[in-house]
Amino acid sequence: MTAGAESFKVAKGSSFLFEDRRPDEIFTREDISEEQQMFARVAEEFMQKEVLPRAEQIYSKDWPVTRELLLKASELDLLRIDIPEQYGGLGLDKVSSAYVGEQIAVMPSFGASLGAHTTIGTLPIVYFGTPEQRAKYLPKLATGEWIAAYCLTEPGSGSDALAAKAKATLSPDGRHYILKGQKMWITNGGFADVFIVFAKVDGDKFTSFIVERGPGVVSGNEEKKLGLDGSSTTALMLEDARVPVENVLGEVGKGHVVAFNILNLGRLKLGSRNIGGAKFTLNNAISYAKERHQFGRAIANFGLIKRKLAEMAIRCYVGDALVWRTLGMIDCALENVDAHDPMQALKAIEQYAVECSIIKVWTSEALSYVVDETVQVYGGYGYSKDYPAERAYRDARITRIYEGTNEINRIIIPTRLLKGPAKDNLPDMEELINDIMDRTEIDSSDESLLYARRVLANVKETARLALAAVWQNYGEKSSEEQEALALVADIVSEAFAVESTLLRTEKLLANRGERDNKIPIDMTRVYTSDAADRVALNARNLTAALQKPKNLGAAFERLAVQRPINTIVTRRRIADAITEAGRYLW
Ligand SMILES: Cc1cc2nc3c(=O)[nH]c(=O)nc-3n(C[C@H](O)[C@H](O)[C@H](O)COP(=O)(O)OP(=O)(O)OC[C@H]3O[C@@H](n4cnc5c(N)ncnc54)[C@H](O)[C@@H]3O)c2cc1C
Repeated sequence: MTAGAESFKVAKGSSFLFEDRRPDEIFTREDISEEQQMFARVAEEFMQKEVLPRAEQIYSKDWPVTRELLLKASELDLLRIDIPEQYGGLGLDKVSSAYVGEQIAVMPSFGASLGAHTTIGTLPIVYFGTPEQRAKYLPKLATGEWIAAYCLTEPGSGSDALAAKAKATLSPDGRHYILKGQKMWITNGGFADVFIVFAKVDGDKFTSFIVERGPGVVSGNEEKKLGLDGSSTTALMLEDARVPVENVLGEVGKGHVVAFNILNLGRLKLGSRNIGGAKFTLNNAISYAKERHQFGRAIANFGLIKRKLAEMAIRCYVGDALVWRTLGMIDCALENVDAHDPMQALKAIEQYAVECSIIKVWTSEALSYVVDETVQVYGGYGYSKDYPAERAYRDARITRIYEGTNEINRIIIPTRLLKGPAKDNLPDMEELINDIMDRTEIDSSDESLLYARRVLANVKETARLALAAVWQNYGEKSSEEQEALALVADIVSEAFAVESTLLRTEKLLANRGERDNKIPIDMTRVYTSDAADRVALNARNLTAALQKPKNLGAAFERLAVQRPINTIVTRRRIADAITEAGRYLW
């Protein structure tokens, strides 16, 4: 483990909703140590010098080139970061590995190949492998000699992964499982050597297997996709593939534990890649807006272009606040468990499932916003394949679909809260509503962060009230009320986003002073103001759908911000700062 996490407070999963934090208790991007940055620098140089120059070959699906580059990545230690030292890895913390992920995002196609290998392909063996399985597979995955893929989805089962039809039957001599079925949309499917495959033993016990390429393991054709032209995506046919019984990963009938824990880690890692991609795209948009002249001026001077650039920067800043705070919390929790016991580590990570789902949804939608507005900044050239905006737009779209669609993750957020921490912490509704009705409205007149602090308190209260109200109305049947749950999910996510952003900025101020941090303060205030409006609207829609309690709507209105801040002037300042610098700065 690398140093860094031990100085921060261990925060329990989902506790952000029920407890308040001080800035010094959370991890921020600014806390990433020199040591933690080391491999990211290597990754950045590797992408610039080795990968980007071969983009055309990668996009033309020249898989030997992708394999060769993965081998080069391993020579630079980029494939071994999450693998324990005794199996040829570096066993580094999640912050270090996510920081590498951020650099790889400069080319999402290659990022998908490398990310699928190191995360969903390799981590199942890291966390669930027996010592023999780990010793056999991890050293070869660390060197890139073998490339891994993760095979959960099937033609008939995507979100409903446990409805898989692939079957595993024990051979008469009891030495092999015979796997039959089809997997779908497998990243690295065209060239991987090792597959983590989910199939049902005797048709009902959902189980995970390590499957090597060989007889009966057949890749389908490359899918013709909207984006990620340079990543391999194929079906995988299992035609009576013989898999030794010792290749069962985890326990028979416990494949769901492997599948869902790995998806959770995938969501976490996706966060830094999404925001990394958003920052690369924003930088292109800034450069273009400075170069492109219309009506005798650079388009960066127009208010409506400033608005876009500023909003893109805000999403990058907030996204980083969410992502690095969560990574820091997880590293901190991992510092407190036995590093040699993978199950303890998984349990420590699993408690942050709500945060991981928030990160997945929030950062993928931030990236979508950024790539979309970048196309708009480029105008007609944004629609041209000769300019980078078009590819970025196509490549980003998948991030709202895989690692659990955003719909599924939106359901997970309140459902997990209501099953776990929220259930024990739900407020007494009547008491809370009476207390809220006695309060005065928020004063937004001051320019400081005090405004954001006050809004945050109200947003968190709105989130707790919304959760409690859904529970009071629907109880155990809440899971059937998806529209209401999604409204709650978005309110909860805004609470986490506003708090993480505010704490990041307060920490910056404490360390570097106000003079140097005017723009982070601006970004925090604008995000908070807009988030408060979104939260108020969601709360209003929720109230309209709920029967009780009396005065719920009035309490939500009391918690809503009454007087908006001047976001026009504030966004202009943000845009001017990044335009002058020629790039996103934080
Ligand atoms: C480029 C690419 C790479 C991929 N890589 C991999 C990989 O490496 N390994 C792998 O196993 N899979 C992979 N996938 C598959 C991906 O994870 C699935 O596509 C995803 O989980 C959604 O499943 P589906 O496509 O069957 O959609 P469906 O599950 O059919 O969903 C269709 C729509 O219905 C919604 N929906 C479904 N169920 C619910 C519900 N209960 N409530 C509300 N809405 C619902 C979904 O949100 C979605 O909008 C990849 C897919 C792509 C496109």
